Amino acid sequence: MSVQVTTAARSLETAAVELRHDWKHGEVAEIYRTPLTELVFRAQSVHRQSHAPDRVQTCQLISIKTGGCPEDCAYCPQSAHYDAPVERQGLLDAQHVIGVAREAAKRGVTRFCMGAAWRQAPEGAEFERVLEMVRGVSGLGMEVCCTLGMLSERQAARLKEVGLSAYNHNLDSSPEFYGSIISTRVYDDRLRTLAAVRKAGITVCCGGILGMGERESDRIGLLHQLATLQPHPESVPINMLVRVEGTPLASMPALDPLEMVRAIATARILMPASRVRLAAGRKQLSPEAVTLCFLAGANSIFVGEKLLTTPNPGPDEDQQLLQTLGLKPLESHAS
Ligand code: SF4
Repeated sequence: MSVQVTTAARSLETAAVELRHDWKHGEVAEIYRTPLTELVFRAQSVHRQSHAPDRVQTCQLISIKTGGCPEDCAYCPQSAHYDAPVERQGLLDAQHVIGVAREAAKRGVTRFCMGAAWRQAPEGAEFERVLEMVRGVSGLGMEVCCTLGMLSERQAARLKEVGLSAYNHNLDSSPEFYGSIISTRVYDDRLRTLAAVRKAGITVCCGGILGMGERESDRIGLLHQLATLQPHPESVPINMLVRVEGTPLASMPALDPLEMVRAIATARILMPASRVRLAAGRKQLSPEAVTLCFLAGANSIFVGEKLLTTPNPGPDEDQQLLQTLGLKPLESHAS
């Protein structure tokens, strides 16, 4: 079996666009605060210069090692610091994970992401097993992404050798707000891991989470950070907080979905060539809000009943929505 993202769908996506990395904070704020209909119109115009307007990449994210993480990310039910209803599970068997990827590929999924609740990717047998997973999934012709916590340059190079396409490491929020949600690791640690990933020639998946109690200026600050990375992250996941019982953010007020739309549209304008992913929290959005997110330039969603440990719309719901909107998944060649 082999799955490959076709060049037809990609050709538009790689069309030359001028990329800026010198965005000023004030410019980002001005874009973010543009009247909404104008902002969405502008974002969609930018989107069409680099991306096929009717294509959405479907990704699947699986938790390969769950819970017991020593970090204290306030939004995360997998942190060992909180009493959230998540069952701990050690590192999964490699062949099992490759089998899940094979099934996902048959359903048209072209990117397979594996997440492990570690502070730092371990050395030894566990890391070797992750390498086996990456090698196997890459052999199916899928894009392969991992999120394993902090990564050394050597680990990044080894992951690249076995076919890793992308590494996810989110900045989460602005540098100013970051300390309010995580105390066990600093913003610069994140930037160092991103640099190690870049150095190994792996593409970067980096975004953030909205609705954690941050101010609008923090959302703008996060987007400014992302848009001044050089190169831009090829993949920018925009997540909406999923309020999980037992975590410190469980009783956060719900975020206005239009803030998701604004953030996605701003990301699209600032990083025209990147794939902007409407990630966690989609279950909390109405079909109309999701449609607006697509119009604002999101061109990827995560499919599957669960996103790591939090709920996600079911495959039928997703298929129905894409069909209603006339959107097609990025083509794949499954055999
Ligand atoms: S977000 Fe990742 S690093 Fe933070 S507690 Fe959860 S699993 Fe650990």
